[in-house]
Amino acid sequence: MIHPDTELKHVNKDIGYGVFATKPIPRGTIVYVKDLFEIQFTQEQFDSLEQDYKTLAQKYSYTDEQGVWILSWDHAKYVNHRCDCNSISTGYGFEIAIRDIAEGEEVTDEYGLFNFEHELELTCHCMNCRKVLRTDDIDTYYAEWDSLIQQALQFVRDVEQPLWKFLDNETRTALMNYLNGHECYLSVLALKRVEEEHPYLIKMHKQAR
Ligand SMILES: [Zn+2]
Repeated sequence: MIHPDTELKHVNKDIGYGVFATKPIPRGTIVYVKDLFEIQFTQEQFDSLEQDYKTLAQKYSYTDEQGVWILSWDHAKYVNHRCDCNSISTGYGFEIAIRDIAEGEEVTDEYGLFNFEHELELTCHCMNCRKVLRTDDIDTYYAEWDSLIQQALQFVRDVEQPLWKFLDNETRTALMNYLNGHECYLSVLALKRVEEEHPYLIKMHKQAR
């Protein structure tokens, strides 16, 4: 579920639609949560889909660390990538504003954390555009992204959080434990898809959480 102070707008013919802030959204605001209504399907279910459905899934879904495909029921699925994005996925699963987002500004995020199976040509044309989204971008940039997230997390308790009530209890507890200094920070590396054929990785991953 995307933050309520956003709307869907047509950007242009090449980009299609995008999500825009209807009010200022300050840094530290949770802008997306995986709520109960999100449509989820396994890799096996994806593999059994007709190609036309696969194409839609590849365009509008993201994949979590367990390989589950997640398709948003609302306009969260239209958030575009920018290499200088103003919001980003966290290791806790939700997305957070890493900069103040002005009224009317497009809400953008980092597709490098969505476990895409293939490289993707980027059309964002940002100042330091990576031009191509690579499947191992998370390994290259995780420290940079973690730093931005950790700075934003410091504001979580100071800003309005309309999506707070849609966070599951486990996520809320993990986040509060981090903010209160009882638990270590959970890196975005927790979002990296773990292949089933390497059970020891899954074990390591769980321990890291
Ligand atoms: Zn770019």
